[in-house]
Amino acid sequence: MKDKTIRNKLSAFFPILLVACLIMAPITACNPLETSGYFGPEGQGEALIKSERTGLQALSDIPYYQVNIEVDFDGGSYKGSAKIDYVNLEQTVLESLYFRLFPNGGGIYGSGFLKVESVMVDGEEAITVLSTGDSVMEVVLTEELSMGESIEIELDFNGKTSGEAEMDYGIHNTMGGVMTLSGWYPILVVYDDEGWNLNPVTNIGDSVYSDTAYYDIELIADRDLKLASTGVIIEKEDTDDEQIKYRMTSGPSRDFFIVLGRDFEVLSTEYDGTSISAYYLTGHKDSAKKTLDIAKGALETFNKKFGKYPYTEMDLVELPVDRSIGIEFPGIMLIGTPVFGNGIFTSHEIAHQWWYNLVGNDVLDEPWLDEALTSYSSIIYFEYNTPEPEHQGVLDYFESEYKNNLEAGKDDMVTGSLDYFEELGGSHYYQIVYVKGALFFDALRETVGDEIFFNALQDYFGQYKYGIASSEDLLDLFEEVSGVQLDDLYQEWLYGK
Ligand SMILES: [Zn+2]
Repeated sequence: MKDKTIRNKLSAFFPILLVACLIMAPITACNPLETSGYFGPEGQGEALIKSERTGLQALSDIPYYQVNIEVDFDGGSYKGSAKIDYVNLEQTVLESLYFRLFPNGGGIYGSGFLKVESVMVDGEEAITVLSTGDSVMEVVLTEELSMGESIEIELDFNGKTSGEAEMDYGIHNTMGGVMTLSGWYPILVVYDDEGWNLNPVTNIGDSVYSDTAYYDIELIADRDLKLASTGVIIEKEDTDDEQIKYRMTSGPSRDFFIVLGRDFEVLSTEYDGTSISAYYLTGHKDSAKKTLDIAKGALETFNKKFGKYPYTEMDLVELPVDRSIGIEFPGIMLIGTPVFGNGIFTSHEIAHQWWYNLVGNDVLDEPWLDEALTSYSSIIYFEYNTPEPEHQGVLDYFESEYKNNLEAGKDDMVTGSLDYFEELGGSHYYQIVYVKGALFFDALRETVGDEIFFNALQDYFGQYKYGIASSEDLLDLFEEVSGVQLDDLYQEWLYGK
């Protein structure tokens, strides 16, 4: 995801990207579940292409969210309940669990809210403590949770979206006949080497740093709405004259995003076992066709160069805003109307499926790790899918932006945290992390050669798929695979100011 102020820095020709994704899943018949092998809780295998349904044993203890949500589209609100099975996979005893209630944090989420009504742990009412502008909810455990022990958390919630997107991204809004639902349910906080990650919601970049989980979602909404989401629809039934109930599953996924729209039309195509859909608004069919072409090309290139996209669906959804923005979510991306069909935005958001969703990272402390690699992946998309002059044009654009920034005396370290860049202003973040960071990967490729570069990226994807990687993990791996000591290159591009 990217700060909308960045658009002001972009040239008209290359309005650099952001991240986003949304999809309107075509209703598919529910395939019979496979009878052998473990592929997650009931229905989860449906979200994965068959060759990816094996080897999930290692994910048998990841969080399992079963969530019901009833949407009042006209009121811009929703209510629901969740049951979360949680196993303590950390190397320590836990006394509390923490959840994020992102819409309460303002910033990129706007002015809506998410309120939790009651929390039960293993059937007993639990004490909760709100903090960080009510965007963090601590659930105090009455008994310590040992390593490997499991508990069940149940809670009720309700929320309201923002209206027209103003300073926010438009990701928890109801506007222009479209409702976007990010951060709509309480999501578990990551516990890592720094403990619980409880950063305030930001005004730039992305805020969701989460562990891979399974999602089983039941949604009730008006029947005339088109639905797009993470994962796949595995069941649907009419509840009364006006409404319909959907059940969706995600497979192993870092979040669950939903979009509903009154006027969406859908175009779909297929590549390598994945159905790709573009959800577009009236009059924008040509942009939807371009979106599908780009998505197919990006999927082909990234599958070959990085590793296989494991899901049966990928959705790209037009977001009715008047600015250049893209936002990525697992399996689904939002692209703002002005850049819907744009190659840079679209390929960028798609690359985030590899670098953010499948390989996770701390997007607040180390935003460069997914953004710089995603930015360079977009250049790789152009390299393999467009005539050379177009690819060169994109590379030239990055290089001239970098040069201009250097000449303006605004060089900085690529590896700064989101807080660090927020204090310096959003456009600086773009110039350093997206532009200089992408050129770092180009210099790295030049240094180690094509074969080693892509072998290392494939190793990175293979080792950290569904997990969380750090800067050190990536940088050490390039040294390991290449056998070359790269400290000087890292110092020059990543840590130097
Ligand atoms: Zn991005």
